[in-house]
Amino acid sequence: MRTPVFFIGHGSPMNALESNDFTNSLKSMRRLCPNPKAILCISAHWMTEGSWVTHMEKPKTIHDFYGFPQALFEIQYPAPGSPEIADQICKAITDPKVHADDEMWGLDHGTWSVLRHIFPEAEVPVLQLSLYISQPAEYHYKLGTQLRQFRDQGILIVGSGNIVHNLRTIRWEPEATPYEWATDFDEWMKARLLGRDDRAVVENFMSSEAGKLSVPTPEHYYPLLYSLGAADANEKPNFLFEGVHNGSISMRTISFGAT
Ligand code: ZN
Repeated sequence: MRTPVFFIGHGSPMNALESNDFTNSLKSMRRLCPNPKAILCISAHWMTEGSWVTHMEKPKTIHDFYGFPQALFEIQYPAPGSPEIADQICKAITDPKVHADDEMWGLDHGTWSVLRHIFPEAEVPVLQLSLYISQPAEYHYKLGTQLRQFRDQGILIVGSGNIVHNLRTIRWEPEATPYEWATDFDEWMKARLLGRDDRAVVENFMSSEAGKLSVPTPEHYYPLLYSLGAADANEKPNFLFEGVHNGSISMRTISFGAT
């Protein structure tokens, strides 16, 4: 059965521990894809030279943040990996080359902070695909289109980033009033996604002041391009969660192709 595609705005690592409207919406996503064969997550937090896929039997839980409560560092997400599926990905995608990673990474908080709400038992195998961060937006979108084939094998593709992600301007109260530019860009993006104007999403996101403020660095934006690429052109988005937290973090969470 063909899986849907998700894009999740992950926001603060604290969402891993909290129970709020956002994490409730994550919990409800399980019914859209109850039993995937595996999950392939593209997280904002694994940036590399070259594209890599985790190839371990047992990927480690990586706590890639500082200054958070000890309880967050104690979380483990012991999902198995799948070297077999990693090999399939490396074999099927040859341009660009995808390398198999046996030691560099594991599962970072872009992956486990959301998956522990959707798949709390951690029984489904999870792989991560890295961001070849020096490559332009087009590279990430095109690699996303090559992930589409794996949906027919029951593999759930999950991009995990944030459409608006500006830590320099962050307001620490979660319910802080969003900046106007943050809301503007988030709404602009919503309209482009609804119209499946993929060209604009790939090419024009930096063409406005709002875009430049919303995407000061690209790593939280690029995971969206993988999800969009993995969705067929006729698959419209469903917005499972909307809202701008902390003034400048869009939590917009999307499914494509879910019934
Ligand atoms: Zn993040």
